[in-house]
Order: sequence, then structure tokens, then C-alpha cells
Amino acid sequence: MAANRKILVLPGDGIGPEVMAQVQRVIDWFDNKGSVRFEVTEDLVGGACYDSHGVSIREETMEIAVSTDAVLFGAVGGPSWDDVPREHRPEAGLLRLRKDLDLFANLRPAIVLDAMVESSTLKSEIVKGLDIIILRELTSGVYFGEPRGEQIMDDGTKRVVDTQAYTEDEIVRILRVAFELARQRKNRVHCAEKSNVMETGVFWRQISARVAREEYPDVEFDHILADNCAMQLLRDPHQFDVIVTDNLFGDILSDEAAMMTGSLGMLPSASLGNPDPVTGKRYAMYEPVHGSAPDIAGEGKANPLAMLLSFSMMLRYSFDLPEEADRVETVVQNVLNEGFRTGDIMQDGCHLVSTEEMGSNLLLELDRSVQ
Ligand code: NAD
Repeated sequence: MAANRKILVLPGDGIGPEVMAQVQRVIDWFDNKGSVRFEVTEDLVGGACYDSHGVSIREETMEIAVSTDAVLFGAVGGPSWDDVPREHRPEAGLLRLRKDLDLFANLRPAIVLDAMVESSTLKSEIVKGLDIIILRELTSGVYFGEPRGEQIMDDGTKRVVDTQAYTEDEIVRILRVAFELARQRKNRVHCAEKSNVMETGVFWRQISARVAREEYPDVEFDHILADNCAMQLLRDPHQFDVIVTDNLFGDILSDEAAMMTGSLGMLPSASLGNPDPVTGKRYAMYEPVHGSAPDIAGEGKANPLAMLLSFSMMLRYSFDLPEEADRVETVVQNVLNEGFRTGDIMQDGCHLVSTEEMGSNLLLELDRSVQ
């Protein structure tokens, strides 16, 4: 079978290469036994790239990122590169990818697997079976708005300004991603803003009402104030399916929702761009929420599941392979149900495994899934 799905794999620094190695084993499994094949190109990014090439990402790598079907990213950074000039810091490679691929839609699922219910700090009856997505606008809003920075007023008082600004197009395109996602899920969208106190909130509210009415009348839609959304997430998260919001509120709400699920080592994410009007191709990058975890790097302690679940998001959203994505997610559930745990998610009565052993158990489960 032709290898028609191209992936650029960028393991990065710290535990990035360790967790990526386990995903590579799963990719190999699909190549050997599954119904899909992948063409993988691997390259350096972050501190590892700086050490070899003096930059955090090379132009050649950017060219591949633009021409590939999807990017799978590990993690970058660590104390070894604290003194590197800002433009070459490991994070600069990640920001360059997000910017050049215009990855404006950041998807953060908050899924509570049955085996992990006890890991949440919330009561199990609140989070059991939870499966929601926070969709955050990633490339505009108050983190980018101008003017920003220090100003000296006429009376000599110093003040500091950030600017929250959105264009209509920026709001419409993220809303469309939300509605399309909802159609593949429980068909419900909440748009969170602060229309009671912010002009941009009123704008978000007007545009979301129009897009819902004119383009997605089949999808259940509600406005919600962002502060109320933060409360409702803790009170009754099951009322939500897809929550779409701006960059700032998304930053906060996605962390809140994510931590309902337990551990950083379990959290995947996807960042998507607009589909190309001619080819329909959508730039996309998939990465775990966690960083390079220098405190445990090289010790075989890293949990590879966030990285693997990021790969399963790639199967679902870039390659339209829902059955294979379901297979990966079921395998993760089964391995956890059997009690295999890395240190970060260890519970009484479970078996402590290394990163590699977790990978081996995943492969055994994959084999079982086709028997
Ligand atoms: P971190 O996510 O790397 O680690 C936070 C804590 O969680 C650590 O104790 C770590 O051991 C643990 N942890 C994280 N992932 C784990 C996993 N898969 N399995 C088991 N334990 C895990 O965050 P940090 O310590 O704040 O940052 C460390 C470095 O990572 C910094 O250089 C930071 O800039 C970078 N970082 C990179 C990204 C990214 O590449 N997207 C994201 C966040 C932080």
C-alpha cells in the first residue's frame, strides 16, 4: 500500500524524544499490521537543533513542515539553553511553527478515562465519562494586540497597556472550526466571552449568533460569560461539548478543564490552521500539553500517553481515520484498566512501568485488538 500520509516528527528536547519513540513504535505497528501507512520524516527542533545548527529550527525543516500533511511535536526547552539569545531559544522554534503555519485553532480535549477517575481532584461523579473540548483562538487577541507596553502619561505616571483586538475574520474562522468539530461530536457549542463588560465580547457575541444562525442551524448553540463558564466547568462539566473562546479566556479555561482529568502526562493537544481553498489541506500540529520535563529526562519515567493521544488526534483530525483513532484510544484505556502506570499517574495496587514498558504494553494491546 502506498505511504500517502506524510508526518513531520519533531521530538525536541528532554523527555520529547523518549515519549516520541513510543509513538514511533505505534506508527511502525500501523505500517506493519494496520490498514494505513505513514511516511515519516524526523528532524531536530528546540535546544537539540540549536546545539547542532545554532538555530532552534532550520529553514529546511520549515519547508518540510509546510509541505507535509501534519506535524507531530514532542517538547522543547530546558536549563541547558537558559543563556541562549532569545531569538534562538528552544521555544522560538515552536512559535515559528505556530506562526508560519498560522495555527489559529488550539484544541484541548478534557477526557476522563474510567481508569483515571480517581486521579481528578474533583469528585468522581462530577468527572466520570467527561469528554469535552476547549477550542482556543491562538494567534490574536490580547497576547498580540497593539499598542502594548509601557507608557508615560502627561503627569509622569507610568502605566502599562495590553490591547485586546479581534477582526471579524479571526472570530468567524475559529467559530467555524468549533461548529465543524461539534458536528463530529455531541453537536453542541458554547461561545465564552465577556460581552457584559468588553467591546470585543459584544463583537464575539454578535458574530457567533450570526454564524450559528446562518451557517450551522443544526448545531445547538449557547452564549456563556467566561467567568460563569469557569464556574460551570467545575459544577457540571457534562453540560458542555465544545467551548470556543478567545486567546486569553481559552488559556485559562483550557488549563482548568485539563486539570479536571488528572495528570499532565495524559493531556494531548492539536493546533489547526485554515483549510487551503484549492487543495482543502489544513496545516496542523499535534503535541502533548506537557513540556520537556528536564527533572525526569533520560530516566525512563516519562508518561508517553499524552504524546500517543496527540497522535490519535492527528489520525482523527488530519487523516480522517476515526476507527484507527478509536483503536489507539481504546488501547490506552485497556492498558490503564490493566493497572499499568508510569510514576506520574501511579495509584495503589497498580504496576509501576517505565516509558518503554508502557510502550510495549500498548503494542501488546494493539496486537490483541486485531486478533
Ligand atoms: P513540564 O511540563 O516539562 O513539567 C512539569 C512537571 O510535570 C515536572 O515535574 C515533570 O516531571 C512532570 N511531567 C511533565 N510531563 C510528564 C510526563 N509526560 N510524564 C511524567 N511526568 C511529566 O513543565 P516545566 O517543568 O514548567 O518546564 C520544563 C521545560 O519545558 C521548560 O524549559 C519549559 O520552557 C518547557 N516547556 C515546553 C513546552 C513545549 O514544548 N510545548 C511546554 C511547556 C514547557
